[in-house]
Amino acid sequence: MDFFTNTNVSSAHTTFNQPLRVLIVEGDSGIRSQLRMLIGAEDREIFESASGSDAIAKLKVKDIVLVLLNMQLPDTSGLDVMDWISNFKISTNVIMISAGESIDSVIRAFGSGIVDFIRTPYDPEVIRHKVDNALGRSRQERNKVMMAAQLEQSERLHRFMVESSPDIIYTLDASGCFIFVNGRIVSLLGYERDELIGRKYTTIVHDDDIGLAQYAFTERRSDNRATTNVEVRLKSKNNSYRQFETRHIVAMVSSMGVYVESSDKHNALTRRFMGTYGVARDISERKVAEESISFQALHDHLTQLPNRRLFKDRLELSVTQSMRNGGLVGVMFIDLDRFKLVNDTYGHAEGDTLLKSLAQRLRGCVRAGDTLARQGGDEFTVLLPDLKHNEDAGIIAEKIMDVLKIPFIVGGQEFRATTSIGIAVSPSDGSDADELMKNADIAMYKVKASGKNNYQFYSSDMNACCYERVNFENELRQAIKSSEFELHYQPQFSVCGDRVVGLEALVRWRHPVHGLLDPARFIEAAEESGLICNITDWVLGEACRQIAHWRDVGMDDLRISINISPLDLVRNDIVERIINNINAYRLPENVLEIEITENLLMHDVSGVCEKMWQLHDQGVRISIDDFGTRYSSLNYLNKFPISTIKIDRSFVQDICEEKGASPIIHAIVGIARGFGLLLVAEGVESTYQMNALYDLGCDEMQGFLFSKPLPAEEVESLLKYSLSNATALAC
Ligand code: C2E
Ligand code: CA
Ligand code: CA
Repeated sequence: MDFFTNTNVSSAHTTFNQPLRVLIVEGDSGIRSQLRMLIGAEDREIFESASGSDAIAKLKVKDIVLVLLNMQLPDTSGLDVMDWISNFKISTNVIMISAGESIDSVIRAFGSGIVDFIRTPYDPEVIRHKVDNALGRSRQERNKVMMAAQLEQSERLHRFMVESSPDIIYTLDASGCFIFVNGRIVSLLGYERDELIGRKYTTIVHDDDIGLAQYAFTERRSDNRATTNVEVRLKSKNNSYRQFETRHIVAMVSSMGVYVESSDKHNALTRRFMGTYGVARDISERKVAEESISFQALHDHLTQLPNRRLFKDRLELSVTQSMRNGGLVGVMFIDLDRFKLVNDTYGHAEGDTLLKSLAQRLRGCVRAGDTLARQGGDEFTVLLPDLKHNEDAGIIAEKIMDVLKIPFIVGGQEFRATTSIGIAVSPSDGSDADELMKNADIAMYKVKASGKNNYQFYSSDMNACCYERVNFENELRQAIKSSEFELHYQPQFSVCGDRVVGLEALVRWRHPVHGLLDPARFIEAAEESGLICNITDWVLGEACRQIAHWRDVGMDDLRISINISPLDLVRNDIVERIINNINAYRLPENVLEIEITENLLMHDVSGVCEKMWQLHDQGVRISIDDFGTRYSSLNYLNKFPISTIKIDRSFVQDICEEKGASPIIHAIVGIARGFGLLLVAEGVESTYQMNALYDLGCDEMQGFLFSKPLPAEEVESLLKYSLSNATALAC
């Protein structure tokens, strides 16, 4: 920094043009005036001293270049003044003036450093000539000193600039060895400068970039357009590629050739290449930024997997190559089953965590050359660029299904994820990327439609299924508009009273083409498209209207159960929607029951707990459907106002003469007793099951043994029969 605060260069510049100061030391004022007249000139400033002491005083403070010093002064000898000048190392030239001095004193005067001697009486021309000479020499000397100072400053400036540069600055000799390199090399690559001097530039260049670097480091041109800019990766001292975060140091190297010109013996001008000098700038950070921009453009932000675009590019390339080489290219479409439910019930943060963990597991299933990509949402694709046989894709699909058997943790709980996988293989299932993707997607939807958690290879007869799927959502919308739904009611019997105590309302869709469809065919699609809430609204209105009607005709001891989707419960208006119907049909307390599944209750997602209490306070019963299939934690039973638990059909169906009732059913019965809850067994198909459940202490039963779900008119006759039976029993 010193250079910039130093003013020497500018003072040197002014000194070049400053007048030269001359001091006339002479006791006689007349002679002083004569001398002043004689030697005065524009570029000179003349001072006078009448005594030696005054001369010394002026020499101390003025920058006198030349002194005309009389040997005899009123107060002292000129020689004493000379002694003082040499003792105090005053930088000035002295011409001694003397009248007939002894030769000894002249010798002494020269010995003490005078530059000339004039004897009086003097010839004016001689004086003028000698003064001019002396001043000319002084000026030359001064200029030389100033030039040297300027050069030194300029060199210091350049040295300072080179050393404080954020770039590596170097000079190479003609063979490419370092002659000079600045200190930046130490911090950037870990070399001491001396270690590099004499070594070739290739020492610091990434092996793969040496060809490139040759252009820059050995640049042989030296005109204005000579510098070459080349991006190369640099190598640090410990022979690793210096990491900048995770990447190499990338340097932009600019060089210029250095030549000397000389004349040969025939006087012809020759240019000799001496080497190169140049600058290497660390552009790693810029590269990282650039790479991250292009990385982001081609990768999925959440999982860091290749995105749809990159996948498509790679697929197109693989297909083109396979057309040439005759290989097989496989595409897998992987869709997480029921992911929307996870997202909507646990929240997006948990959904994202699940997707990230899933991506990680999928990554472990594919081979090094395969590409696993995220298409968006819960859809992933795998590119299998060189399959030996179609079946190899099946092996990978099985591997994926296998690793998913280990549960994930979602919201602190175990979650078993399953996937539906569709596979298409070129050339048989498509000759371009789009067709392969489309067919893998169709195969995946076929898996979804046939119960999920599986994989299938595409076959051309699947196209009809695909057409169905595209239309399905539109048809469902239309069904809602024109009320194509029906409710069937499955009776629930009391164990001891042997009569119908409740009805579960189960929705059906009377499809204009396909006839009566079970909920398994459309509930999931309705949930995925969000149309489930419209269906629930219809079911609620219809079930409440129907039970109100039956109550009007004397069947006033009945409870009606409605299945509510988790997607309904997370909506803010669910309490209002239910209560509005209760009020509209003036249903008393405990007539309406809603059946919900456990997963929502594990965490108080979207204030479900508060909503449950609001419903409970308005006389709505809450039943846990499919109890025992999902979670082991029972904490929520204390927290929520639950009235009923329904043993899942799968446990009931396990009861048989050989095995009896499973320990799980015993446990569920114990839980219901412990928490004082009504226990309903569903899916009862045999009298053996009925008796076993009766013995266990189950309160109510529902199942094909008693009745299938029936349309309203049919269930009405059954209810009338049950009512008269109960009345008869009472009589
Ligand atoms: P869920 O709530 O577990 O309903 C019981 C299902 O078990 C019904 O099937 C019923 O017909 C069947 N089932 C009853 N007893 C037996 C039996 O003894 N053996 C066998 N094998 N099955 C029996 P369904 O009507 O096909 O309904 C299937 C599922 O669809 C329901 O399971 C429920 O989760 C859903 N669902 C039905 N209606 C609605 C609705 O209105 N809204 C919503 N969100 N879901 C509904
Ligand atoms: Ca149910
Ligand atoms: Ca159930």
